[in-house]
Amino acid sequence: MSKIAIIGGGITGVATAYELAKLGEEVVIFEKNYFGSGSTFRCATGIRAQFTDEANIRLMKYSIERWEKLEEELEAEIGFRHSGYLFLATSEEEVESFKNNIKLQNRFGVPTRLIDMDEAKEIVPILNTEPFLAGAWNPKDGKANPFKTLFAYLFRAKELGVDAREHTEVIGFEREGDEITAVKFRSNGKVETVKVDAVLNAANAWAPLINEMAGLKRDLVPITAYKHQLVKTEPLERGQAEPLVCPPAWDDAYIIQDGEDGGIICGAGIEHKARSLNDYEPTYDFLRGVLKYAVKIAPPLRYAHIVRQWAGFYAKTPDKNPAIGKLLDNFYIAAGFSGHGFMMAPAVGEAMAEFMTKGRSRVPLDWEWYDPYRFERGELRTSAFQIG
Ligand SMILES: Cc1cc2nc3c(=O)[nH]c(=O)nc-3n(C[C@H](O)[C@H](O)[C@H](O)COP(=O)(O)OP(=O)(O)OC[C@H]3O[C@@H](n4cnc5c(N)ncnc54)[C@H](O)[C@@H]3O)c2cc1C
Repeated sequence: MSKIAIIGGGITGVATAYELAKLGEEVVIFEKNYFGSGSTFRCATGIRAQFTDEANIRLMKYSIERWEKLEEELEAEIGFRHSGYLFLATSEEEVESFKNNIKLQNRFGVPTRLIDMDEAKEIVPILNTEPFLAGAWNPKDGKANPFKTLFAYLFRAKELGVDAREHTEVIGFEREGDEITAVKFRSNGKVETVKVDAVLNAANAWAPLINEMAGLKRDLVPITAYKHQLVKTEPLERGQAEPLVCPPAWDDAYIIQDGEDGGIICGAGIEHKARSLNDYEPTYDFLRGVLKYAVKIAPPLRYAHIVRQWAGFYAKTPDKNPAIGKLLDNFYIAAGFSGHGFMMAPAVGEAMAEFMTKGRSRVPLDWEWYDPYRFERGELRTSAFQIG
């Protein structure tokens, strides 16, 4: 048994901690704020396999299979359901590209199909069908509650012996050659050091700072924090917009009905580079922009009250795909998840735990595709469609 430190108490770190503990490892997880306080508790709940490249499609198909069994495994209600994703085309060219994406997704067993607007209206009763030509519909996509999911993982991880440290900031490492030997951290003003055998950087938007602490170049894995925002309406009757509905041509605007309280969450790719890693201030231009799109997608939203607006970080690499793999002999990274970190966590946590302990994994995760050194080599992947 070795001692493994995880930096970052978001869904990636916590899911990996749980999976490592399941494998019998001794794990300590550090979170500088409270668990979930990074991007995880700000996310829009969406889970999809509708990607446009083999690596992300296969990973997410597997992840959804894990999501299906997670409540049973973690013995906790997490609100996962197959509510689907509906992408909407506004031009003939987009219909053609939907058809190509669907062909690719079907090849890997994802049952997406092209649907007409009559069927779309049956699925989303408040949809304005007029601007759209067709939809790409996968009923197996879905959503889950980020709060309940993180706490379910955390609770089980602690039961399995994980040492979970909240309000504890990692501030440095001791390194010998290409090995990290100890983690230095601060809690309640006190600085301490713990000897470790391996470290996972799961700090997402903060990951470049952690890499720098490990003696690597800060931009080795170039992750930039973009402020991504959401607004939410008052609760509406259930079943109005259960799937995530998105016309990508409209600034990646989307709506999705919250699986818990029935409020409609509205998002869009109207983003700003974060001024700092504390820059969570919601902006008025987003509020105006996102509502313009939301009422075009679903006109009855014009009459719904907005009860909340918030911001979080899309931690983006240049190709919007995460960096997952090994950086030094015993220093690993799983970060830079853009709009996909929540949905990918069940698969990434399992893959990372196996990779760190056995050097390989049964999870269909394409290590070459997500290789954290690809940026240094100038080998970008095709850009992943970034929203949740
Ligand atoms: C508005 C919005 C909507 C989104 N919608 C979706 C969606 O629908 N579906 C989806 O899959 N994804 C979505 N995402 C993205 C998703 O939320 C993230 O990709 C995911 O939560 C990343 O999880 P993580 O654990 O990797 O990182 P985070 O949750 O960001 O966790 C990283 C943690 O590291 C901690 N940390 C940093 N530095 C240190 C240090 N020195 N010491 C200790 N701890 C440290 C931070 O405090 C933070 O809690 C959305 C994001 C936003 C902002």
